[in-house]
Amino acid sequence: MDAVDAALGSMQRPIELHEPRFSDRERELVLDCIDTNWVSSAGKYVTRFEEMVAAATGSRHAVAIVNGTAALHAALVLEGVEANDEVLLPSITFVATANAVSHAGAVPHFVDSTWDTLGLDPQALEAHLDAVAVRRNSAWVNKRTGRRLRAVVPVHIFGHPVDMTALGAVAARYDLVIVEDATESLGSTLNGKGCGTFGHSAVLSFNGNKIVTTGGGGMIVTDDEAHARHARHFTSTAKKTHAWAFEHDEVAYNYRLPNINAALGCAQMERLDGILAAKRVLAERYLAAFRDLPWARIYREPKGAESNYWLNTLVLDREYASERDRLLEALHGHGIRARPLWVPMHLLPMYRDCPRAALSVAEDMNTRCINLPSSPFLAEAVQGTKKS
Ligand SMILES: *Cc1c(COP(=O)(O)O)cnc(C)c1O
Repeated sequence: MDAVDAALGSMQRPIELHEPRFSDRERELVLDCIDTNWVSSAGKYVTRFEEMVAAATGSRHAVAIVNGTAALHAALVLEGVEANDEVLLPSITFVATANAVSHAGAVPHFVDSTWDTLGLDPQALEAHLDAVAVRRNSAWVNKRTGRRLRAVVPVHIFGHPVDMTALGAVAARYDLVIVEDATESLGSTLNGKGCGTFGHSAVLSFNGNKIVTTGGGGMIVTDDEAHARHARHFTSTAKKTHAWAFEHDEVAYNYRLPNINAALGCAQMERLDGILAAKRVLAERYLAAFRDLPWARIYREPKGAESNYWLNTLVLDREYASERDRLLEALHGHGIRARPLWVPMHLLPMYRDCPRAALSVAEDMNTRCINLPSSPFLAEAVQGTKKS
Protein backbone atom coordinates (compact mmCIF):
# COMPACT_ATOMS: atom_id res chain seq x y z
CA MET A 1 0.00 0.00 0.00
CA ASP A 2 2.87 2.38 0.77
CA ALA A 3 4.32 1.70 -2.65
CA VAL A 4 0.97 2.45 -4.32
CA ASP A 5 0.64 5.63 -2.27
CA ALA A 6 4.17 6.62 -3.24
CA ALA A 7 3.25 6.24 -6.90
CA LEU A 8 -0.13 7.95 -6.75
CA GLY A 9 0.52 10.62 -4.15
CA SER A 10 -2.42 12.32 -2.48
CA MET A 11 -4.82 12.01 -5.42
CA GLN A 12 -8.42 12.18 -4.35
CA ARG A 13 -9.96 8.70 -3.89
CA PRO A 14 -11.53 6.67 -5.40
CA ILE A 15 -9.05 6.27 -8.22
CA GLU A 16 -10.46 4.32 -11.17
CA LEU A 17 -8.40 1.92 -13.25
CA HIS A 18 -8.38 4.05 -16.39
CA GLU A 19 -10.39 7.20 -17.03
CA PRO A 20 -10.32 9.80 -19.78
CA ARG A 21 -10.10 13.53 -19.23
CA PHE A 22 -11.70 16.06 -21.58
CA SER A 23 -10.82 19.62 -22.38
CA ASP A 24 -12.50 22.59 -24.08
CA ARG A 25 -11.28 21.14 -27.38
CA GLU A 26 -13.44 17.99 -27.05
CA ARG A 27 -16.40 20.22 -26.16
CA GLU A 28 -15.73 22.46 -29.15
CA LEU A 29 -15.57 19.65 -31.73
CA VAL A 30 -18.57 17.74 -30.38
CA LEU A 31 -20.60 20.96 -30.31
CA ASP A 32 -19.57 21.61 -33.90
CA CYS A 33 -21.24 18.31 -34.88
CA ILE A 34 -24.45 19.34 -33.16
CA ASP A 35 -24.41 22.89 -34.50
CA THR A 36 -23.82 21.73 -38.07
CA ASN A 37 -26.21 18.74 -37.88
CA TRP A 38 -23.43 16.28 -38.78
CA VAL A 39 -23.77 13.77 -35.97
CA SER A 40 -24.19 10.45 -37.76
CA SER A 41 -22.35 8.10 -40.09
CA ALA A 42 -20.93 10.74 -42.42
CA GLY A 43 -18.98 13.87 -41.71
CA LYS A 44 -15.55 15.44 -41.74
CA TYR A 45 -14.46 14.21 -38.32
CA VAL A 46 -14.67 10.56 -39.32
CA THR A 47 -12.17 11.16 -42.13
CA ARG A 48 -9.98 13.38 -39.98
CA PHE A 49 -9.96 10.85 -37.14
CA GLU A 50 -9.03 8.07 -39.59
CA GLU A 51 -6.12 10.13 -40.89
CA MET A 52 -4.89 10.94 -37.39
CA VAL A 53 -4.98 7.29 -36.29
CA ALA A 54 -3.31 6.10 -39.51
CA ALA A 55 -0.51 8.63 -38.94
CA ALA A 56 -0.12 7.69 -35.27
CA THR A 57 0.24 3.96 -36.01
CA GLY A 58 2.23 4.39 -39.22
CA SER A 59 -0.43 2.65 -41.33
CA ARG A 60 -1.40 3.86 -44.79
CA HIS A 61 -5.15 3.42 -44.31
CA ALA A 62 -7.60 3.47 -41.44
CA VAL A 63 -11.33 2.70 -41.41
CA ALA A 64 -13.34 3.90 -38.42
CA ILE A 65 -15.66 1.32 -36.86
CA VAL A 66 -18.34 1.55 -34.17
CA ASN A 67 -16.30 -0.35 -31.56
CA GLY A 68 -13.26 -2.57 -31.23
CA THR A 69 -15.19 -5.84 -31.09
CA ALA A 70 -17.04 -5.04 -34.32
CA ALA A 71 -13.75 -3.99 -35.90
CA LEU A 72 -12.18 -7.34 -34.96
CA HIS A 73 -15.21 -9.23 -36.27
CA ALA A 74 -15.13 -7.38 -39.59
CA ALA A 75 -11.34 -7.65 -39.85
CA LEU A 76 -11.45 -11.43 -39.41
CA VAL A 77 -14.18 -11.88 -42.03
CA LEU A 78 -12.34 -9.55 -44.42
CA GLU A 79 -9.17 -11.64 -43.99
CA GLY A 80 -11.02 -14.74 -45.14
CA VAL A 81 -11.97 -16.35 -41.84
CA GLU A 82 -14.97 -18.55 -42.55
CA ALA A 83 -17.49 -20.52 -40.54
CA ASN A 84 -15.90 -23.54 -38.87
CA ASP A 85 -12.32 -22.29 -39.30
CA GLU A 86 -10.11 -22.15 -36.24
CA VAL A 87 -8.43 -18.91 -35.19
CA LEU A 88 -5.46 -19.00 -32.81
CA LEU A 89 -5.43 -16.44 -30.01
CA PRO A 90 -4.03 -16.12 -26.50
CA SER A 91 -6.17 -17.36 -23.63
CA ILE A 92 -5.04 -14.27 -21.71
CA THR A 93 -7.01 -11.50 -23.37
CA PHE A 94 -10.17 -9.50 -22.96
CA VAL A 95 -13.22 -11.56 -23.94
CA ALA A 96 -13.85 -9.39 -27.03
CA THR A 97 -11.05 -11.13 -28.94
CA ALA A 98 -12.63 -14.55 -28.52
CA ASN A 99 -16.15 -13.20 -29.07
CA ALA A 100 -15.13 -11.65 -32.39
CA VAL A 101 -13.81 -15.02 -33.55
CA SER A 102 -17.15 -16.58 -32.59
CA HIS A 103 -19.10 -13.79 -34.34
CA ALA A 104 -17.24 -14.74 -37.53
CA GLY A 105 -18.58 -18.29 -37.10
CA ALA A 106 -15.09 -19.57 -36.37
CA VAL A 107 -13.77 -21.47 -33.35
CA PRO A 108 -11.26 -19.89 -30.94
CA HIS A 109 -8.16 -22.04 -30.43
CA PHE A 110 -6.27 -20.87 -27.37
CA VAL A 111 -2.51 -20.67 -27.01
CA ASP A 112 -0.22 -19.64 -24.19
CA SER A 113 1.50 -16.38 -23.31
CA THR A 114 5.01 -15.40 -22.27
CA TRP A 115 6.02 -14.60 -18.70
CA ASP A 116 7.63 -11.33 -19.57
CA THR A 117 4.94 -9.64 -21.72
CA LEU A 118 1.73 -11.62 -21.04
CA GLY A 119 1.37 -11.62 -24.85
CA LEU A 120 1.08 -14.61 -27.17
CA ASP A 121 4.21 -16.79 -27.07
CA PRO A 122 5.44 -17.49 -30.64
CA GLN A 123 7.70 -20.37 -29.52
CA ALA A 124 4.86 -22.07 -27.66
CA LEU A 125 2.59 -21.49 -30.64
CA GLU A 126 5.10 -23.10 -32.99
CA ALA A 127 5.61 -26.12 -30.74
CA HIS A 128 1.84 -26.53 -30.50
CA LEU A 129 1.32 -26.25 -34.26
CA ASP A 130 4.13 -28.74 -34.85
CA ALA A 131 2.09 -31.17 -32.74
CA VAL A 132 -1.44 -30.54 -34.05
CA ALA A 133 -1.24 -29.06 -37.56
CA VAL A 134 -1.22 -31.21 -40.70
CA ARG A 135 -1.39 -30.19 -44.33
CA ARG A 136 -4.47 -31.45 -46.16
CA ASN A 137 -5.57 -30.36 -49.65
CA SER A 138 -3.20 -27.39 -49.54
CA ALA A 139 -4.54 -26.10 -46.21
CA TRP A 140 -3.24 -26.49 -42.68
CA VAL A 141 -5.79 -28.20 -40.47
CA ASN A 142 -6.00 -29.15 -36.83
CA LYS A 143 -5.66 -32.94 -37.03
CA ARG A 144 -7.62 -33.33 -33.80
CA THR A 145 -10.72 -31.49 -35.07
CA GLY A 146 -10.33 -31.56 -38.86
CA ARG A 147 -10.92 -27.81 -38.99
CA ARG A 148 -8.85 -25.41 -41.09
CA LEU A 149 -6.36 -23.23 -39.19
CA ARG A 150 -6.86 -19.84 -40.76
CA ALA A 151 -5.58 -16.92 -38.69
CA VAL A 152 -3.71 -15.89 -35.58
CA VAL A 153 -4.64 -12.88 -33.45
CA PRO A 154 -1.77 -11.61 -31.28
CA VAL A 155 -2.87 -9.18 -28.57
CA HIS A 156 -0.41 -6.57 -27.29
CA ILE A 157 -1.55 -7.00 -23.71
CA PHE A 158 -1.65 -3.82 -21.62
CA GLY A 159 0.33 -2.09 -24.39
CA HIS A 160 3.39 -4.39 -24.39
CA PRO A 161 4.23 -5.52 -27.94
CA VAL A 162 4.23 -9.21 -28.81
CA ASP A 163 7.45 -10.45 -30.47
CA MET A 164 6.10 -9.93 -33.99
CA THR A 165 9.30 -11.02 -35.75
CA ALA A 166 9.12 -14.48 -34.23
CA LEU A 167 5.35 -14.64 -34.69
CA GLY A 168 5.65 -13.59 -38.34
CA ALA A 169 7.95 -16.54 -39.02
CA VAL A 170 5.57 -19.04 -37.39
CA ALA A 171 2.55 -17.57 -39.18
CA ALA A 172 4.36 -17.76 -42.54
CA ARG A 173 5.28 -21.40 -41.95
CA TYR A 174 1.66 -22.35 -41.28
CA ASP A 175 0.00 -19.96 -43.77
CA LEU A 176 -1.80 -18.12 -40.99
CA VAL A 177 -3.12 -14.63 -41.61
CA ILE A 178 -2.11 -12.25 -38.81
CA VAL A 179 -4.81 -9.89 -37.53
CA GLU A 180 -3.27 -7.81 -34.76
CA ASP A 181 -5.50 -6.99 -31.82
CA ALA A 182 -3.87 -3.62 -31.17
CA THR A 183 -6.81 -2.38 -29.12
CA GLU A 184 -4.57 -1.81 -26.09
CA SER A 185 -1.48 -0.62 -27.90
CA LEU A 186 -2.11 2.69 -29.67
CA GLY A 187 1.29 4.43 -29.61
CA SER A 188 3.31 1.34 -28.67
CA THR A 189 6.22 0.48 -30.95
CA LEU A 190 8.52 -2.47 -31.51
CA ASN A 191 11.92 -1.72 -33.04
CA GLY A 192 10.55 1.67 -33.99
CA LYS A 193 7.53 0.27 -35.85
CA GLY A 194 4.03 0.98 -34.58
CA CYS A 195 1.80 -1.73 -33.17
CA GLY A 196 -0.93 -2.30 -35.73
CA THR A 197 1.47 -2.39 -38.69
CA PHE A 198 2.86 -5.91 -38.34
CA GLY A 199 -0.04 -7.97 -39.70
CA HIS A 200 -1.94 -7.56 -42.95
CA SER A 201 -4.52 -5.65 -40.91
CA ALA A 202 -4.99 -4.66 -37.29
CA VAL A 203 -7.69 -3.39 -35.01
CA LEU A 204 -7.81 -0.58 -32.45
CA SER A 205 -10.36 0.37 -29.80
CA PHE A 206 -11.45 3.73 -28.47
CA ASN A 207 -13.63 2.55 -25.63
CA GLY A 208 -13.85 4.83 -22.61
CA ASN A 209 -11.02 3.07 -20.77
CA LYS A 210 -8.56 2.91 -23.66
CA ILE A 211 -5.58 5.20 -24.40
CA VAL A 212 -7.81 7.71 -26.18
CA THR A 213 -11.57 7.46 -26.40
CA THR A 214 -14.46 8.24 -28.74
CA GLY A 215 -16.98 7.08 -26.13
CA GLY A 216 -17.13 3.80 -28.01
CA GLY A 217 -15.21 3.22 -31.19
CA GLY A 218 -12.75 1.14 -33.14
CA MET A 219 -10.59 1.15 -36.24
CA ILE A 220 -9.24 -1.25 -38.85
CA VAL A 221 -5.80 -0.23 -40.09
CA THR A 222 -3.94 -1.67 -43.08
CA ASP A 223 -1.38 -0.71 -45.70
CA ASP A 224 -3.41 -2.42 -48.42
CA GLU A 225 -5.54 0.14 -50.23
CA ALA A 226 -7.94 -2.33 -51.85
CA HIS A 227 -8.41 -4.03 -48.50
CA ALA A 228 -9.18 -0.70 -46.81
CA ARG A 229 -11.68 0.18 -49.53
CA HIS A 230 -13.43 -3.15 -49.08
CA ALA A 231 -13.38 -2.75 -45.29
CA ARG A 232 -15.14 0.61 -45.62
CA HIS A 233 -17.73 -0.84 -48.01
CA PHE A 234 -18.31 -3.97 -45.91
CA THR A 235 -18.82 -2.04 -42.67
CA SER A 236 -21.20 0.53 -44.17
CA THR A 237 -23.93 -1.72 -45.65
CA ALA A 238 -22.05 -2.26 -48.95
CA LYS A 239 -23.88 0.65 -50.55
CA LYS A 240 -22.69 1.59 -54.01
CA THR A 241 -21.76 5.25 -54.22
CA HIS A 242 -24.50 7.13 -56.03
CA ALA A 243 -26.23 10.49 -55.62
CA TRP A 244 -29.65 8.99 -54.94
CA ALA A 245 -29.83 5.26 -55.74
CA PHE A 246 -29.80 2.78 -52.86
CA GLU A 247 -28.08 -0.29 -54.21
CA HIS A 248 -26.00 -2.77 -52.22
CA ASP A 249 -23.81 -5.53 -53.58
CA GLU A 250 -23.05 -7.91 -50.69
CA VAL A 251 -24.36 -8.92 -47.28
CA ALA A 252 -22.64 -6.38 -45.07
CA TYR A 253 -22.62 -4.70 -41.69
CA ASN A 254 -23.64 -1.33 -40.28
CA TYR A 255 -20.48 -0.82 -38.26
CA ARG A 256 -19.48 2.76 -39.13
CA LEU A 257 -18.39 5.16 -36.41
CA PRO A 258 -20.69 8.21 -36.03
CA ASN A 259 -19.19 11.64 -36.70
CA ILE A 260 -19.97 12.86 -33.19
CA ASN A 261 -17.82 10.08 -31.72
CA ALA A 262 -15.06 10.77 -34.22
CA ALA A 263 -15.08 14.44 -33.18
CA LEU A 264 -14.31 13.42 -29.62
CA GLY A 265 -11.54 11.19 -30.98
CA CYS A 266 -9.99 14.02 -33.03
CA ALA A 267 -9.69 16.21 -29.95
CA GLN A 268 -8.20 13.31 -27.99
CA MET A 269 -5.72 12.43 -30.75
CA GLU A 270 -4.41 16.01 -30.77
CA ARG A 271 -3.15 15.24 -27.26
CA LEU A 272 -1.86 11.72 -27.91
CA ASP A 273 1.81 12.64 -27.41
CA GLY A 274 1.06 14.26 -24.06
CA ILE A 275 -1.05 11.28 -22.98
CA LEU A 276 1.73 8.81 -23.89
CA ALA A 277 4.36 10.93 -22.11
CA ALA A 278 2.21 11.11 -18.97
CA LYS A 279 1.61 7.35 -19.01
CA ARG A 280 5.36 6.80 -19.25
CA VAL A 281 5.96 9.07 -16.25
CA LEU A 282 3.37 7.15 -14.24
CA ALA A 283 4.87 3.79 -15.25
CA GLU A 284 8.33 4.96 -14.17
CA ARG A 285 6.84 6.03 -10.86
CA TYR A 286 5.28 2.59 -10.29
CA LEU A 287 8.54 0.88 -11.30
CA ALA A 288 10.49 3.00 -8.82
CA ALA A 289 7.95 2.60 -6.01
CA PHE A 290 7.93 -1.21 -6.29
CA ARG A 291 11.61 -1.68 -7.14
CA ASP A 292 12.69 -2.87 -3.72
CA LEU A 293 9.66 -4.97 -2.85
CA PRO A 294 10.81 -8.58 -2.35
CA TRP A 295 7.44 -10.19 -3.21
CA ALA A 296 6.30 -8.55 -6.42
CA ARG A 297 7.39 -6.63 -9.48
CA ILE A 298 5.92 -4.27 -12.04
CA TYR A 299 5.93 -5.10 -15.73
CA ARG A 300 8.41 -3.16 -17.79
CA GLU A 301 8.27 -2.78 -21.58
CA PRO A 302 10.10 -5.59 -23.40
CA LYS A 303 13.53 -5.02 -24.98
CA GLY A 304 13.38 -3.13 -28.25
CA ALA A 305 9.85 -1.99 -27.51
CA GLU A 306 8.30 1.23 -26.39
CA SER A 307 5.08 0.44 -24.57
CA ASN A 308 2.20 2.87 -24.09
CA TYR A 309 1.82 1.33 -20.59
CA TRP A 310 -1.94 1.22 -21.04
CA LEU A 311 -2.39 -0.63 -17.73
CA ASN A 312 0.40 -1.02 -15.21
CA THR A 313 0.58 -4.55 -13.87
CA LEU A 314 1.85 -5.81 -10.54
CA VAL A 315 2.99 -9.45 -10.62
CA LEU A 316 3.12 -11.19 -7.26
CA ASP A 317 5.84 -13.78 -6.78
CA ARG A 318 4.35 -17.26 -7.00
CA GLU A 319 4.48 -17.96 -3.27
CA TYR A 320 2.40 -14.80 -2.67
CA ALA A 321 -0.33 -15.67 -5.19
CA SER A 322 -2.68 -16.65 -2.36
CA GLU A 323 -2.47 -13.04 -1.09
CA ARG A 324 -3.86 -11.56 -4.30
CA ASP A 325 -7.49 -11.24 -3.25
CA ARG A 326 -6.56 -9.87 0.17
CA LEU A 327 -4.44 -7.26 -1.59
CA LEU A 328 -7.27 -6.37 -3.96
CA GLU A 329 -9.60 -5.97 -1.00
CA ALA A 330 -7.14 -3.71 0.78
CA LEU A 331 -6.63 -1.62 -2.35
CA HIS A 332 -10.38 -1.23 -2.88
CA GLY A 333 -10.81 -0.38 0.79
CA HIS A 334 -8.27 2.33 0.15
CA GLY A 335 -10.25 3.74 -2.79
CA ILE A 336 -7.93 2.24 -5.40
CA ARG A 337 -9.92 0.39 -8.03
CA ALA A 338 -7.29 -2.18 -8.94
CA ARG A 339 -8.38 -5.42 -10.58
CA PRO A 340 -7.08 -8.91 -11.31
CA LEU A 341 -6.29 -10.25 -14.75
CA TRP A 342 -9.29 -11.21 -16.91
CA VAL A 343 -10.26 -14.83 -16.26
CA PRO A 344 -8.45 -16.69 -19.08
CA MET A 345 -10.74 -17.50 -21.98
CA HIS A 346 -10.42 -21.29 -21.70
CA LEU A 347 -11.87 -21.14 -18.17
CA LEU A 348 -15.04 -19.29 -19.25
CA PRO A 349 -18.12 -21.50 -19.66
CA MET A 350 -18.74 -20.70 -23.35
CA TYR A 351 -15.12 -21.34 -24.34
CA ARG A 352 -14.33 -24.29 -22.07
CA ASP A 353 -14.56 -26.88 -24.82
CA CYS A 354 -12.55 -25.01 -27.44
CA PRO A 355 -9.31 -26.47 -28.78
CA ARG A 356 -6.22 -25.32 -26.94
CA ALA A 357 -2.54 -25.71 -26.34
CA ALA A 358 -0.94 -26.27 -22.93
CA LEU A 359 -1.76 -23.09 -20.99
CA SER A 360 0.48 -23.24 -17.94
CA VAL A 361 1.59 -19.60 -18.11
CA ALA A 362 -1.98 -18.36 -18.54
CA GLU A 363 -3.19 -20.41 -15.59
CA ASP A 364 -0.30 -19.34 -13.40
CA MET A 365 -0.44 -15.62 -14.25
CA ASN A 366 -4.20 -15.67 -13.79
CA THR A 367 -3.62 -16.09 -10.07
CA ARG A 368 -1.03 -13.40 -9.45
CA CYS A 369 -1.46 -10.27 -11.54
CA ILE A 370 -3.05 -7.01 -10.42
CA ASN A 371 -3.69 -4.04 -12.70
CA LEU A 372 -3.09 -0.69 -11.03
CA PRO A 373 -4.76 2.65 -11.84
CA SER A 374 -3.11 3.98 -14.99
CA SER A 375 -4.99 7.08 -16.16
CA PRO A 376 -2.57 9.56 -17.71
CA PHE A 377 -3.76 12.43 -15.49
CA LEU A 378 -2.51 10.55 -12.42
CA ALA A 379 1.06 11.32 -13.47
CA GLU A 380 0.31 14.98 -13.93
CA ALA A 381 -1.54 15.30 -10.66
CA VAL A 382 1.42 13.96 -8.74
CA GLN A 383 3.89 16.09 -10.61
CA GLY A 384 1.76 19.16 -10.34
CA THR A 385 2.26 19.90 -14.00
CA LYS A 386 -0.65 20.80 -16.24
CA LYS A 387 -0.03 19.39 -19.64
CA SER A 388 -3.23 17.88 -20.99
C1 LIG B 1 -10.82 -3.15 -25.55
C2 LIG B 1 -10.48 -4.41 -26.20
C3 LIG B 1 -11.15 -4.87 -27.36
C4 LIG B 1 -12.27 -4.14 -28.02
O1 LIG B 1 -13.19 -3.64 -27.18
P1 LIG B 1 -14.39 -2.66 -27.50
O2 LIG B 1 -14.87 -2.32 -26.14
O3 LIG B 1 -15.37 -3.41 -28.32
O4 LIG B 1 -13.90 -1.45 -28.24
C5 LIG B 1 -10.71 -6.05 -27.94
N1 LIG B 1 -9.69 -6.75 -27.45
C6 LIG B 1 -9.01 -6.34 -26.35
C7 LIG B 1 -7.86 -7.15 -25.87
C8 LIG B 1 -9.40 -5.17 -25.68
O5 LIG B 1 -8.73 -4.79 -24.58
